[in-house]
Amino acid sequence: MLVVLKSDATPAQTEAVCAEIRAMGFAPHSMPGAGRTAIGITGNKGPVNALPLEALPGVERCIPVTQAYKLVLREMKPEGTVIDLKGTKVGGGATFTVIAGPCSVESVRQMDEVARFVKDQGIRVLRGGAFKPRTSPYSFQGLEQEGLKILNEIGAKHGLATITEVMDTSTVDDVAGAADILQIGARNMQNFSLLKRVGKASKPVFLKRGMSATLEELLLAAEYVLHGGNHQVMLCERGVRTFADHTRNTLDLSIVPSVQRLSHLPIFVDPSHAIGRRYFIEPMAKAALACGADGLMVEVTPDPDHALSDGAQTLDFKGFEKLMQALRHLAGALGRKLN
Ligand code: PEP
Ligand code: MN
Repeated sequence: MLVVLKSDATPAQTEAVCAEIRAMGFAPHSMPGAGRTAIGITGNKGPVNALPLEALPGVERCIPVTQAYKLVLREMKPEGTVIDLKGTKVGGGATFTVIAGPCSVESVRQMDEVARFVKDQGIRVLRGGAFKPRTSPYSFQGLEQEGLKILNEIGAKHGLATITEVMDTSTVDDVAGAADILQIGARNMQNFSLLKRVGKASKPVFLKRGMSATLEELLLAAEYVLHGGNHQVMLCERGVRTFADHTRNTLDLSIVPSVQRLSHLPIFVDPSHAIGRRYFIEPMAKAALACGADGLMVEVTPDPDHALSDGAQTLDFKGFEKLMQALRHLAGALGRKLN
C-alpha cells in the first residue's frame, strides 16, 4: 500500500499517518518527492485496510501495490531519484554520466595517469577495483586495502568522485571510508547480507545486475538496500548470459526503459563487461545513451593489453577519447546533457 499525501500536508499530518501505520503493526517509509510526499507501507502479509488511513487529514489517496517491491516503485516517487556525487547530479533523465577507469587499481602511477586523462575528457567519477571478484582463484585478486588507499588518494588529488566494489560485509566500512560509491558486483547482486549491510551505509550504492537476474530480481535486490534505509541506489545493466557467444555476455538494453517504467532509480549501462571486447564498446555505449540510460560505466587504462584484469574489453586513451567525442555529438542531437 502506498499512501499519497496532499501537496499541502503538514509535517504533523505526515507523522500522524506514520503513527497510524505503526499502530496497525506495519512499518511506514516516508518518501518526500518534488510535489508531494508518499508513504510506503511494509511488513504487511496481506492487503492493508485503507479506510483508517484515507480518513486522516492530509491524505489524498491510498494505492494498493501488487508488486513484491514497493520502495523502488515509480508510483512511490514519480520523479526520478537524483543522486549528488560530489556536485554531479546523477539520474532524473536529463543528464548522462560517464563513470570511467580501469578494471583494477594496479599502481599509483596508473591511477594518476587515468585520473588526469579522464578528468580532461570531462569525467567526474573515477572507477577502479580494489577487491576483485575473479572466476579463478589464480587470477589477480586486486590490491585490496592498498588499492582502496590509492583510489582514495588519486580521487582526492584530482577532485573526482570514486567508485569501487565492496565484496563482503566485513569490508563495507573500509570501502565506504575510502570511496564515494559502493559497487555491488553482478556476482553479489543477491548476497542478501551484503545488501542489508549497504542499506545501512551512508554512501550511494551502484548495484549491478546479476548475470542471470530478471528485472524483478534486480528491483528486489535494490529494495533490500532501500528497505535498510539507504535510498541512494543506482542500477546497472552489465550483460546477461545467453546462448549467444559472439560477445562475453548479451547486453540487454531493453531493461533500461523497463526499469524506468517501473522504478524511480537511475539505470546505468556497462558495455565493457557486457561485450568483453573493446571494439564494440562505442556502438553499444551510443545505444545506451540513445535508449535513455542515466549513464555508462566504461573501463579505460593506458595499456590495456598488459592490464591485470579485463584488458580485452578495456579502452585505451585514444579509444576513450573517440568514444567521448561520439557521445557528445549524440547527446547534442538527443537534447541531453553529458555530465
Ligand atoms: C567490475 O565492474 O569490474 C566487475 C567485476 O563487474 P561485474 O560485477 O559486472 O562483473
Ligand atoms: Mn572489469
